[in-house]
Amino acid sequence: MSFETLGLSAELLRAVADQGYTGPTPIQAQAIPVVLEGRDLMGGAQTGTGKTAGFALPLLQLLSVHANTSTSPAKHPVRALILTPTRELAVQVEESVQTYGKYLPLRSTVVFGGVNIKEQIAALKSGVEVLVATPGRLLDHVEQKTVNLSKVEILVLDEADRMLDMGFLPDIKRIIALLPAKRQNLLFSATFAGEIKKLSDQMLTDPVLIEVAHRNAAAENVTQVIYPVDHERKRDLLAHLIKSENMQQVLVFSRTKHGASRLAQQLEQDGISATSIHGDKSQQQRTQALAEFKAGTVRVLVATDVAARGLDIDQLPLVVNFDLPHVPEDYIHRIGRTGRAGSSGEAISLVCADELRMLADIESMLKRELPRKIVPGFEPGATAQIAARAGFTDRPRRGPRPAEHPRNREGQGGREGSGVAPRPPVNFLDAPYVTPPPIPKAVVQPAPNLRQTAKKPIPALLMRPAAPSSDGN
Ligand code: AMP
Repeated sequence: MSFETLGLSAELLRAVADQGYTGPTPIQAQAIPVVLEGRDLMGGAQTGTGKTAGFALPLLQLLSVHANTSTSPAKHPVRALILTPTRELAVQVEESVQTYGKYLPLRSTVVFGGVNIKEQIAALKSGVEVLVATPGRLLDHVEQKTVNLSKVEILVLDEADRMLDMGFLPDIKRIIALLPAKRQNLLFSATFAGEIKKLSDQMLTDPVLIEVAHRNAAAENVTQVIYPVDHERKRDLLAHLIKSENMQQVLVFSRTKHGASRLAQQLEQDGISATSIHGDKSQQQRTQALAEFKAGTVRVLVATDVAARGLDIDQLPLVVNFDLPHVPEDYIHRIGRTGRAGSSGEAISLVCADELRMLADIESMLKRELPRKIVPGFEPGATAQIAARAGFTDRPRRGPRPAEHPRNREGQGGREGSGVAPRPPVNFLDAPYVTPPPIPKAVVQPAPNLRQTAKKPIPALLMRPAAPSSDGN
């Protein structure tokens, strides 16, 4: 299929051709005609599917009837409002709007918190047809009367599931109440959990449902591998993998802001250029970190789940889970940062004994077991054996699985990770894939070529005393 068959205008086709896209992705092929018809849409599209162009292209086409070159702000009221959960995603969506709309005289801008509001006010004052915003900052503008939403014809909620997770539902409701009742609504979400269903029932009129991949399906072109390793050896293993495999442009996920900062510093000490991106960093620091990473000046970007939302880095070859996320869906989001729009990618996870339950949750969601690779010299359990020899007899306790914690979200009444209670040790005897541990003969030196390491079950995790950890690092 080609973009030409979707009913897009010459200006938009030209902009798409400039991007080098050879054809629409499945979400684009399905969503573009529906949006052009003026229908409401509920799009179940995971990250990396090309969903931004899926709504931005037809949205621009619908607004093009209003396109004008007048200098009067009154001639450029906000006609499309796109809400996103994070600043990074907001910036990237607006960049896409600019990219696809470059041959149309339509204006756009982006507003988000954490930066001075004055420049945003100036941009809004001059008039824009497309406004991309995070909910909190948009409401600041509403309160200051620096934005008028009474002419909005199209509302897009991008990554709606994430916005609800972050506690934005009341803000979204307040914003919707400010919009004209008659409008077109597009809601995109990687998952259709209960609250999303409720919101869509309230917000959408007779929507067309488009789901391009099973909601919990991981991108098929992403190779996923688990590296079992002791908690305290994770950083060494990561540094070893990066160096020995000559990995470049590695996006590493950390559950906590503190963990992200510390890991980046430690990697630097190991001689690997690294930076971090998380909610405690200023917008300027985040932008700079991302720019350095994109430019290849730093090799590793350590990010928290929230900060990584919306990072759009073309052809990212490798994603590393330094620790596993508490919520299995976050795993899908994380690995969706690689293998984007058809290119292949690799996602590796460093998993210690404390995380076996999380791994089991992820595998049960994926409905498959992920392959394990043990790196010689980093076999899990070595620490336990040393501890046992030293007479340390703490063994994994049997205990109930802790209740699932709501995600701690940046800026939403929670600090990432730090609010999550240390997980009691998991009963490893229940872990389905563990076979009796072989006794390691000796500490083996790291092999030169890790890709040739044997695929083995996790050994020795059974014996490992649980390391209490509140932040997974
Ligand atoms: P998204 O899922 O919207 O975040 O898009 C993911 C990536 O896919 C972005 O880097 C886009 O530039 C890219 N992309 C979007 N549409 C296409 C397409 N039709 N062909 C190739 N790449 C695309």
